[in-house]
Amino acid sequence: MIVQLSPVIVGWTNYFRIAQRCNRSFAASDHVLTQQLLRWAQRRHPRKGMRWIVRRYWTMRPPQAWTFASPKDSSRLRHHTDTFHLNHCKVRGMASPFDGNLVYWSKRLRDHPLTRTTVGTLLGRQLGKCACCGLYFRDSDVIEVDHIDPAGGHHLRNKQALHRHCHHVKTVQNQDHRRRRGET
Ligand SMILES: [Zn+2]
Repeated sequence: MIVQLSPVIVGWTNYFRIAQRCNRSFAASDHVLTQQLLRWAQRRHPRKGMRWIVRRYWTMRPPQAWTFASPKDSSRLRHHTDTFHLNHCKVRGMASPFDGNLVYWSKRLRDHPLTRTTVGTLLGRQLGKCACCGLYFRDSDVIEVDHIDPAGGHHLRNKQALHRHCHHVKTVQNQDHRRRRGET
């Protein structure tokens, strides 16, 4: 089941990750899939109770509860929400990922003792690249922590590191989007 479902989840979420508010849809998809897997497990073990089924097929361990996991080996099913929202914005004209120093700078930034822990963690997760434009951060760049979903809470899962410039673009886009929907 895990082997069959994983590529579908990866492909589907990668395709939709540039959609506005995709993380909400991903959370909803995780919920629906969990319900479907519960029914699958109940059909498979008609004599067993829900407690037994959940304990056999799901792990509640951090970082994420309700992870569908194999009772036989260590394989786990990916969550839709493991894929992070990617803003579809233009690449900055001046910067080039082929600049030889960029890898050095991104590593240096990540390991820098003055880099705040959240920024350091996010840089590690994003491999030193801005989650918006996809370019490596340079030493001189101002890095800002963005809430992927503005209403999504302060958990690390909802945060990403962006260039100040890219953060600004995203904030303006979000405001436009809300205004079009008549929310403000
Ligand atoms: Zn950027």
